[in-house]
Amino acid sequence: TLSDRLTTVLKNLRGKGRLSDADIDATCREIRIALLEADVALPVVRQFIAQVKERAKGAEVSEALNPAQQVVKIVNEELIGILGGETRRLNLAKTAPTVIMLAGLQGAGKTTLAGKLAKFLAGQGHTPLLVACDLQRPNAVNQLQVVGERAGVPVYAPEPGNGVGDPVDVARRAIEEARRAQHDMVLVDTAGRLGVDEELMRQAADIRDAVQPDEILFVVDAMIGQDAVTTAEAFRDGVGFTGVVLTKLDGDARGGAALSVRHVTGQPILFASSGEKLEDFDVFHPDRMASRILGMGDVLSLIEQAEQVFDAKQAEQTAAKIGSGELTLEDFLEQMLAIRKMGPIANLLGMLPGAGQMKDAMAQVDEKHLDRLQAIIRGMTPAERADPKIINASRRLRIANGSGVAVSEINDLVNRFFDARKMMKQMAGRFGLPGAGGGGS
Ligand code: GDP
Ligand code: MG
Repeated sequence: TLSDRLTTVLKNLRGKGRLSDADIDATCREIRIALLEADVALPVVRQFIAQVKERAKGAEVSEALNPAQQVVKIVNEELIGILGGETRRLNLAKTAPTVIMLAGLQGAGKTTLAGKLAKFLAGQGHTPLLVACDLQRPNAVNQLQVVGERAGVPVYAPEPGNGVGDPVDVARRAIEEARRAQHDMVLVDTAGRLGVDEELMRQAADIRDAVQPDEILFVVDAMIGQDAVTTAEAFRDGVGFTGVVLTKLDGDARGGAALSVRHVTGQPILFASSGEKLEDFDVFHPDRMASRILGMGDVLSLIEQAEQVFDAKQAEQTAAKIGSGELTLEDFLEQMLAIRKMGPIANLLGMLPGAGQMKDAMAQVDEKHLDRLQAIIRGMTPAERADPKIINASRRLRIANGSGVAVSEINDLVNRFFDARKMMKQMAGRFGLPGAGGGGS
């Protein structure tokens, strides 16, 4: 899958310093293959790769992120951009009713969506009317009536024995009914075929001309992959549409269709449908779709958090202090707070691919214990934090009383701190941290 491919690609970059052009080219080749495998249309892939390349080459070296994370970030941002950036809301008519027409192939999920959208809009205080204009399939009108009943929204359908058969006529009369009964929205469900054909397009265009919709939503099954492009182009040319709804996102589709349809037609994706029940529905979120396509939601949130809390200068100073054995309790507290802002330590390590071992070791670190350490250090004076050696017996008693712990816990903390400082200094020397190799502790 795309996510597997990208994970491998990005793992290969981990641990490198600055991104070289060769690195970027090699990575982009992999991403290109991955996107094609995810059924994204070729022209879309080409443009996407070109954008990522350009940005990666011009990117400044991030102080907060390693090169691998930086590439994920760029890929993610470009994906969000292609998917439309911000969520687009429905266009409302200046004078009610707002008319929304649904178009798409048979089985795309139009009728189901009509019910979902009706319920969603009713929940926002609108008074929608559903209109049954699919008069092709014998059971289609009944299906919409069932859906409408579940959504608690009335359905306008042709009266039996009243010349059933002309969807354009039904649509026109439905608008009159909506005005009369003061519905502020009209949702027109239309017929679809298994494949694109002229008759279908003509009928949809006739309904469009009769009701002059404020929105025509092209409903497309996210599972159809490459076919999404040809279908979308046919509907764009035959009927035209102002927005897209993706359905069946509960399937295993990676989202290639979303990327292609959006890019090829230039129309925004407004809603996403993810199941057969009325509740399986949401407005479309480009950022969530991007992370679905990447399949790296955890990594993306880690990157976000890392950027938020990272202070490069401070880290550099701390590294230098570790190396020279001058780390203070103040630094210790600051580091602890910075790490804790990133969430419980165990979760944090769980987000890093390949950090399994470290995670096991850290699983023993108790969050409550960290709380107590923090309370103790807060109870010290600045002088004590800067130079823990001055913390004598009477000071220990004062700190213990102040932070509500036993004196033995203060002893414990101070002793551990000295041990840790010594150990970190030795390690810093081995790994070549700045400042390593100087004076005693
Ligand atoms: P239409 O021909 O475009 O009106 O499509 P329908 O609304 O009748 O849906 C066709 C089939 O797909 C039905 O069995 C629906 O229950 C199902 N369906 C619609 N939307 C979704 C969805 O988001 N997820 C899943 N799993 N099934 C869906
Ligand atoms: Mg239908």
